[in-house]
Parts: sequence; C-alpha cells; structure tokens
Amino acid sequence: MSVTAIRNGRIIDPANQRDEIADLLIADGRLADQAESRSEPDRHSPKSTIEEIDATNLIVCPGLIDIHVHLREPGFNHKETIETGARAAAAGGFTTVVCMPNTSPAADNPSTIAWIKDRAAEVACVNVLPAGAISKNLAGEELAPLGSFANAGVVAITDDGHCIQNHELMRRAVEYASMVGLPVLDHCQDYNLVGNGVVHEGYWSTLLGLPGWPSAGEEVIVARNILLAELCDHPIHCQHISAAGSVRRLREARKRGVKISGEVCPHHIALTDDAIETFDTNCKMNPPLRSAKDVDALLQGIADGTLSILASDHAPHASFEKEVEFDMAPFGILGLETELGLFIDLLIHKHKAIDLRRLIEMYTVEPARLLKLQAGTLSAGAVADVTLIDPNLEWTVSAADSQSMSRNTPFDGWKIKGRAVRTIVGGKTVWKL
Ligand SMILES: [Zn+2]
Repeated sequence: MSVTAIRNGRIIDPANQRDEIADLLIADGRLADQAESRSEPDRHSPKSTIEEIDATNLIVCPGLIDIHVHLREPGFNHKETIETGARAAAAGGFTTVVCMPNTSPAADNPSTIAWIKDRAAEVACVNVLPAGAISKNLAGEELAPLGSFANAGVVAITDDGHCIQNHELMRRAVEYASMVGLPVLDHCQDYNLVGNGVVHEGYWSTLLGLPGWPSAGEEVIVARNILLAELCDHPIHCQHISAAGSVRRLREARKRGVKISGEVCPHHIALTDDAIETFDTNCKMNPPLRSAKDVDALLQGIADGTLSILASDHAPHASFEKEVEFDMAPFGILGLETELGLFIDLLIHKHKAIDLRRLIEMYTVEPARLLKLQAGTLSAGAVADVTLIDPNLEWTVSAADSQSMSRNTPFDGWKIKGRAVRTIVGGKTVWKL
C-alpha cells in the first residue's frame, strides 16, 4: 500500500463544510477517512511506503478546477500542447481543466473528442476534460451532433471564441443539451455591436484610435442567454464576464431562480483598459479589459455570489503572433500559472471581497456542480486530487520560467502574494514548488 500523509495543514473542504487544522491521509490514490487519518499507518509493515508532507501554515484543499482553458491541440501545437498546458495547470495548482473546442479540427465531432481524451490520457499530468462545440466548426450555422457528445465524454458544450448569433439556433442547442444533460457555456459577444472592435469602447479606444468593443456587445448576449435559460429551464453559463451591465443582469436573473451563471477571469480584475496605453498586445483579450467601474462591479458580483466561478481563459499564442500591430494581434493571454495567485492577492488580500473558503469553493464545488463532475471534494473515498496553497507566499511572475509553450502574459515581473506550492493528482505529486 502506498500512503501519503499531509500533516498539520489547514484543511478547507467547502463541499463538507470543513475548515480545521488536521492531517490528510491518502492511501493508494484515494482519500482515507478521517478516523484513519488520526490513527498512524503501520510504519513497520513491509508492504507500506509512507510519504510525509509537512503542510504547516499551508492550506490543504480539493484539487482546483479551471473550466476555461485553451490547450490548442490538435492543430496549434506551436502555441501549446495538451502536455505543456497540463504542466502549466499543475504549476498553477489545478488538477482538472476543461479544454475549449476551438482546435483544428474543431472538437465538434466524437472522433476529435476521442483523440483529445486519448492524447490527454497519454501525456497530461492533470485531468483534461474536453468541451464540445455547439455548432459545426464553430461557425454558428448548423448544430454539431450534440446527441453523440455525452457518450463521447464531453462535460459541456460551447462555441468559445465564437458566439452563436442566431437566437433560434441557440435555443435548439440549449434544448438538445437539456435532453442529453450537458450544460451550455457561452462566450457572450454580439457581432454586429462589436464589429471589428479590439479594445473597450471608451476613453482609451478614442484616444488611441483603436476600434471599440462596447460593453453592450456582451450584455445583449448575456440577456439573450438569461431568456433562453429561462425558456428551456436549462443551465447556461456565461464565460469571462467583463461588463458591469452583465453583472447587473445576472444578479437580477439569479434572484428569480433562472439557471444562469457567470465566471470571472483574473485579468478583468487585475487590469483596466488603461493598460493598453502602450499598445502592449499582451493586454489584448476578448472580451477586452474594461473600465475601473466595470472592475468594481465584478468585485461586487464576486462578493455577493452573482459571479460564482473563477477561471483563466488560458489562451497561449506564440511570440511571433503577438509581436505585431495591436489590430492584427490575436486575442488572449496565458492564465493557468498566475490566476490563483492573482485572485488570492486581489480578492482576499487587497479588496477583501471574499474569504479563502469561498475562493476555494469557486474553484471546486461551483464548477463541479455546474459540470456534474465527481471532483472538488476531500470526501473519504474520493480520488485524491489535492492542492496545497500558501496564501501568504510572495513571489514574482516570470514568463520565461512558464511551463506553457507560450509567453504571452501582461503579468511578467508582477509581485503577487499567494501561490499553490504542491499539486497532487490521484495521490501522486505532479508539481511541487
Ligand atoms: Zn471566449
């Protein structure tokens, strides 16, 4: 028997309302029950190997889940692979990630989905769960074979990076998703309102002469999704919410019991559109960085539970792709290795918007509930996916040291307080600071 004993950490397990200093015992890849954790394993048994981990002053929590990452494989191996993306996830404290379907070929059919799952089983050090596309080739014209997706092993459907503009088609997608029991995730962007916008429509877009991406372009699709979630009585999750008006609409709908939710990415809180002053393409993402007023609304939405999930939108791009004129550069930045630190630093230390228990809940219980995953808990018998966090560790982000294949982060050189120090998947340490 192989046993790992994590000693003296502060166990925060929101799924079981646990917050206490205790030992956590892992036996053969699964979590032992608390009574066993208290009794010493037999050190003298020749069959047992015991690994001791000192977790004094550390948080011990269920392995974190990021439901929004781009691993770029198949098709864009020069940006990231499933192997390197999984390593970046592990280094960020994540034991499970959900990868978006905008690959080449797109994950809009069971065989590409099977390929991703096989590849992940071969090379990924964390759990990689694919999301399937809503429409064929994410073109928004014809539905993908959604009926075959649940059996293919996808955990959700989304056209992320794109957005279905035809509301009737989206309604049919939500209805089919309801029939096969898959949650719908949506990248909220109205193409007519946004046009060729690349930055938040406001002061800086005017001053710099860059085409604006107005908040209304997000809000109108959030409103559409609220209507469809209500009409179909099925969960729709709005990805990477950036605008104050979206938060207001989500709050009102959730109060009425509509099955709608929203997620926040760290960059939309860490930065405002001031950051584009230098035309740094590492500050170009979709949706764009917005105003200080929007940041305040996101913080308020996190504090009152309107925004219930934290995610990265990890979007690697090669340097040669980003080192072009602002208009021409692709949208997106790295996220997996910096998101936990940024959120601890900003939400807990700086703004005091939530406490650590809630932050962990937003990375475990909430995504597990949305996607119906057997994860996000330290219950006895569960697979031992565990993250150890030092919430007070001060460190400096170094893009050069990233596990990702790409380097596109605006946070290079940032001093951050809070970091995962060890990531355990199925009882095995896959990353350690
Ligand atoms: Zn997106």
